Order: sequence, then structure tokens, then C-alpha cells
Amino acid sequence: MKPDNQLNDPWDSERYSRQVLFRGIGAAGQQKLADARVAVVGCGATGSALAGLLARAGVGTLRIIDRDYVEPSNLQRQSLFDEADAADSLPKAIAAARKIAGFNSKIVVEARVDDLVPSNIESLLAGSDLILDGTDNFETRYLINDYAVNGSLPWIYSAAVGSYAVTLNVLPGQTACLACIFPDSPRGMVETCETSGILNSAVNLVASIAATEAMKFLVGGAQTAALRRSLMSFDVWANEQAEISAAKPRPGCRACGQRDFIHLAGEGRPHITLCGRNSVQIHERQRPIDFAEMDRRLQPHGAVRHNDFVLKFWREPYEMTLFPDGRAIIKGTSDTAVARSLYARFVGS
Ligand SMILES: [Zn+2]
Repeated sequence: MKPDNQLNDPWDSERYSRQVLFRGIGAAGQQKLADARVAVVGCGATGSALAGLLARAGVGTLRIIDRDYVEPSNLQRQSLFDEADAADSLPKAIAAARKIAGFNSKIVVEARVDDLVPSNIESLLAGSDLILDGTDNFETRYLINDYAVNGSLPWIYSAAVGSYAVTLNVLPGQTACLACIFPDSPRGMVETCETSGILNSAVNLVASIAATEAMKFLVGGAQTAALRRSLMSFDVWANEQAEISAAKPRPGCRACGQRDFIHLAGEGRPHITLCGRNSVQIHERQRPIDFAEMDRRLQPHGAVRHNDFVLKFWREPYEMTLFPDGRAIIKGTSDTAVARSLYARFVGS
């Protein structure tokens, strides 16, 4: 389906009138936004804010990719979700698409309830003009970086934890890439939302900056002088900010220099401990699940509930959320062996 937000539609020329008046956008820029395809990987706090801003700005096609479902602890900062979404455990990509349809029904939002891994990255990201990072982990960011550098596709790194936020535009062939700046995952110093909490204002700040950079790129292309060519960070609580140049790639960079795309070549991740939670994801193979049948099978073993998108199964002290493709998120443990045996026992090995 083609986006329907052309400027000759009287209703939509009204909708975007204040943005068109801004001289950096104009009518021609607005049309470029309407014609653009942007992928948002991860739709938690940052992804929600990014997708919300770009949807309101009139980006014609947004593909929202997220593996998770909405929970009450998300509502403090994840601006596309409400209490009903959490009560229904709706997948975030689905809930985001529904919320956006309520304020901009003229754009196309493609919801993908999936974990971005090497085996599906081509099908999820091919055809995008720009990739935006709404993820919460370096593993996925390195994967995006490899894919983007390999295909000369721009992407924008964004992260927030505590009161700290950081962002970088990666323009392959021009600027530094993520691996130029962080050759290895900064593991020792990585804080998570669980250890440091997070301020919603830090999220919205970094998303605002990244969404603005996205609009500059979509309107003017990768050569646009106004695009930032630095790694920029802020602490909104301490009122500190820093900027380091990313104008040039680092000589010898594994990704953009040697073109050694180890993350893209990876076999994927069979199970992962999620950020900020006592939970494990199991995704070892595609296993289409018939929710009605699974619901009947699990009834004798605990409480079960399902809708079109997820099936939830409670077996104290664990809570398992199953997706139609057989992927599961198991809460109540960070031990992958425990999670795997629970999955094998109730879903299949
Ligand atoms: Zn590089």
C-alpha cells in the first residue's frame, strides 16, 4: 500500500502546515518525508519516541521491529503505550502501530514482532532509506552497524540510561561507524535500566535529537551539511554534555575499514537474557504455534490466557510468554538452562 500523505490532500496540507513553513523542510522536503521508508529497530522508550515523532512528521512508511510485549513498568517512559496495552500484554510493535494509526492514519506502519538476528536482518531491513536504533543492547547495534556499513545504508545510534543519553549518526563512506568508536562492546561500564533506572526526559532528549537528524537526512540526503558528525552525549541531571568528532572513520576499523562483518556472519542467538529483567528469551527454531491448541494443552499445568498475538502461561514462579512463531520470553529466571527446560517440557524440545 502506498502512503497516502500527499500534499495535495487538503486535510494533510493542513496537518503538516507548520512543518512545511519551517524553511529546512518546505513543501519539497515534506514530500520527501512522505516518500521515505524508515526502520525503527526496538520499540521501547527510545523507539516509541522516535516512531511517534517521525509518524507525526509524516514519514510515509515506518517499519517497527520489536520482540517484546508491553508491561506496566514500561508506561513511565514508553510513550506509545497505555494501560490497556500492558493489561493485554500486546506486542510492542502491534501496540505502537495501533497508537500511531490513531493520530496519523495516512502513513503506513509495518509492525514486525520479531527479534532482529543475522538470519532475518535482510528481510526486515532491506529497502529502508534509514535505520533508527531503539534497541537496548550492543549486540543488536553491532549487527545493525555491520548490515548498514555493508550496504552503505545510514543509521542513527541512540541510547539512554539513568540521566545519560548518547547518539551518533553513521553515514557509511563518510563518518565513523559504531565499531570505529566502540571497537568492542563497552561491557564493563555498561549500565542497564535495571541497575541505574532511567529518566523519561533523557529518552525524549536523545530521541528528539535523533529524529531531527533523521529528518535532515531524509530531506537533504547524506551530504547535508547540517547533519551532525560527532558522538554527542548529555547528562540531563548533571547538566553535562560532551561531543567527540566522528567525522572520519578510524583507520583499520574492523567493520568499515576491513569490512569484516562478524556480527552479520553470526549464527544468531538461541537464547538471550533480556535487559532490565529477570527473564530469558528462547528462540531456537521456527515452531509455528496454534494458540488455541496450546491453551488446551497447558490448562492442566497452570493459568493460561491468549489473544491473537501472545499466549501467556503462568507456572509459579515462572511466567512464559509465547509468540506465534514459537519464540518465548520466560520471566522469573535469568538461568538459560532453567528457561530452556521449562520450554522443552511445555512447548517442545
Ligand atoms: Zn568503522
